[in-house]
Amino acid sequence: MTCSEVRPFLGAFVDNELELRQALEIEAHVRTCASCRAEEAELRALSEAARAHLSRFLPAPALEARVRAALGSPPARRRAAWAWGAAAAAAAAALLLFFLARPAARSGDELAVIDAHSRALLAQHLTDVESSDQHTVKPWFQGKLPYGVPAASFPDAGFPLIGGRLDVLAGRPVAVLVYRRRNHTIDAFVWPEAEPRAVEASRERGYALLSWGQDGLGWWLCSDAAPDDLRALQALLAAAP
Ligand SMILES: [Zn+2]
Repeated sequence: MTCSEVRPFLGAFVDNELELRQALEIEAHVRTCASCRAEEAELRALSEAARAHLSRFLPAPALEARVRAALGSPPARRRAAWAWGAAAAAAAAALLLFFLARPAARSGDELAVIDAHSRALLAQHLTDVESSDQHTVKPWFQGKLPYGVPAASFPDAGFPLIGGRLDVLAGRPVAVLVYRRRNHTIDAFVWPEAEPRAVEASRERGYALLSWGQDGLGWWLCSDAAPDDLRALQALLAAAP
């Protein structure tokens, strides 16, 4: 890729919005091109500054009350034009509130999980231990990780376990259980997490993700399978003994 091909995509690259192949091409160029690297650094600094600034801006409770009051009050007839203007402003403010109140779209864990999943797919190294037998997979992790890894297989439900692998996420070694769903691979990352968490689904870079915390373990499912498939596997894993 040339600089002029790379530049229009640098913003999306910095925001992790590109397809994997495209992101890798841009990454390869940026690594060898000092001028695009400088541009990338500038964009990253800008995006971090914007994020830091936005996260500090919390709307005051009084603002929400005013927006609700404005939306709830019917426009008076003789001041219809003014009222419509106020309603439009209130709607815009409500929209702004919605965006500001939204939780961060991506957590660090989410991006680390996607990176690890796509790395394994690219390197065609999905499993360190290849087996559908939990009595093979479960003990394989023993001694390699400081926590116990459940390794249930659900062939009858259409989610056979095909094996497991060790991965490193943000500097810590974690277990990955690898499930097959028709032609798709589902990675189930699992690590110790004291606090239980409700199930949360998301989509990022073409992958479906699902995460929750239960029984001292935090789970992340990542796959190009349908989000419903991830929900089905989640239900099976959550109910497994
Ligand atoms: Zn360049």
